[in-house]
Amino acid sequence: TSGGSVRASDVDQLVRQHAPLCMSNMHTSLRADKHLRHGGRMQYGLFLKAIGLSIEEALIFWRTAFTNHTDDKFQKEYSYNIRHNYGLEGRRVSYAAYNCMKIISGNPPSTGDHHGCPFRHFSQGNLESKLYSERLGAVQVNEIMNLVRDRHYQVACTRYFEVTHSQYGEKSKIDTVEHPNQYYEASKRLAKE
Ligand code: SF4
Repeated sequence: TSGGSVRASDVDQLVRQHAPLCMSNMHTSLRADKHLRHGGRMQYGLFLKAIGLSIEEALIFWRTAFTNHTDDKFQKEYSYNIRHNYGLEGRRVSYAAYNCMKIISGNPPSTGDHHGCPFRHFSQGNLESKLYSERLGAVQVNEIMNLVRDRHYQVACTRYFEVTHSQYGEKSKIDTVEHPNQYYEASKRLAKE
């Protein structure tokens, strides 16, 4: 077991404050649908493991998130995969969280899926309204959309980080985002200062 420090009950707030758009998008969908399909459970589950959610807390997190499932169905269909990600089943490999390259160039989400990278996989219209709903201004949205049109997805994500952490001034400038957990840790570090 990875002895993490994050509790299932901390996840809402930590993700809202510090997670990149790919992860907060999956979290919102999970809360809305009370379900997340396989690609999302892998991408989001491994991210949560890497922020310090132990296997015990992960089982609590997913069990309570899937409120519409019976215990029996949850045990049969989901519990094994969660334990598998933590290296407790099958080949007993403890899997690493996906980096941006893997997420961006991996299997694209189809209808009903929420995995992937919003900068790469959202339609332009969806991404724009998402950015406006996060209270970005028109200048910032255009700047990010131009980066996306030029296929600089990770640079767009980095710019999004800077804009949403602008209260920290120069310190909001970070290296280009290569990994969702790098984004998360950078955000947490700023909040601690
Ligand atoms: Fe997530 Fe990376 Fe895409 Fe940012 S660039 S939203 S961290 S996959």
